[in-house]
Amino acid sequence: MILDDFKLNGKVAIVTGCNTGLGQGMACALAEAGADIFGVYRSTPGDTPLLIEKCGRRFEGIQADLSVPANAEDIVNKALDTYKHIDILINNAGIIRREDSINFSEQDWDDVLNTNLKTLFFLSQAAAKHFIRQKSGRIINIASMLSYQGGIRVPSYTASKSAVKGLTMTLANEWAPYGVTVNAIAPGYMETNNTTALRADKARNAAILERIPAGRWGTPDDMKGAVVFLASNAAAYVNGFTLAVDGGWLSR
Ligand code: NAP
Repeated sequence: MILDDFKLNGKVAIVTGCNTGLGQGMACALAEAGADIFGVYRSTPGDTPLLIEKCGRRFEGIQADLSVPANAEDIVNKALDTYKHIDILINNAGIIRREDSINFSEQDWDDVLNTNLKTLFFLSQAAAKHFIRQKSGRIINIASMLSYQGGIRVPSYTASKSAVKGLTMTLANEWAPYGVTVNAIAPGYMETNNTTALRADKARNAAILERIPAGRWGTPDDMKGAVVFLASNAAAYVNGFTLAVDGGWLSR
């Protein structure tokens, strides 16, 4: 029956940036659907292990700095040592730096591109080596509205997220023959640490809200349906696509 195809029982999902925001929301969604979680966190996993265990699922994890792409292989190996298999990789961790492009520093360029794009690629590569052997796997990258639009004062973020959308298609093309799907989710404007500065700016907050057809900021819970769908058997023939979860922002 179709609803059974959405179940993730017996699956293991690596979720980067699992401790807060959209990563925490997606980790909980995958656990609610039956998956065990291998979380990647920079300092502490926060209350995510508790939330996962409340769903009756197992949480294990690793502390890692994802601005260092060389950490990718260790992360996947540790997940494999722990669970003996992995099925889903959620490349969620990401950062943003805001500054006029005319003054933008090389550091703000490199930090963002390393975390949002380079590590995402090498984590995908490390996971895909396992997925290809196992002849199944799901990679879900977190893109952005700035995979489609330019934004303002966020040149490295826009460059990284535009590239994530393109890379999602490249990897989908190469790995589809092995039963591995690669898709992305492009969140709209969501209430997380990433947007604290925007929401604190009264004028920007009002302008953004006025432009969202749904009339509200998104929340981590809004990601749940999309991530479970793309991670599940129900999406077996969905590949290379970036699904917007944006309250209609891109339609405007
Ligand atoms: P967030 O609350 O700031 O979460 C970002 C996550 O990434 C945190 O868990 C953070 O860990 C982790 N992270 C950042 N740098 C890291 C590093 N060097 N090593 C390990 N972990 C690192 O923001 P969010 O909105 O949930 O962001 C999640 C993803 O959604 C990002 O890729 C973001 O670009 C994307 N996104 C967000 C929005 C939005 O409106 N919020 C819209 C479109 C796309 P710490 O907590 O330890 O810093």
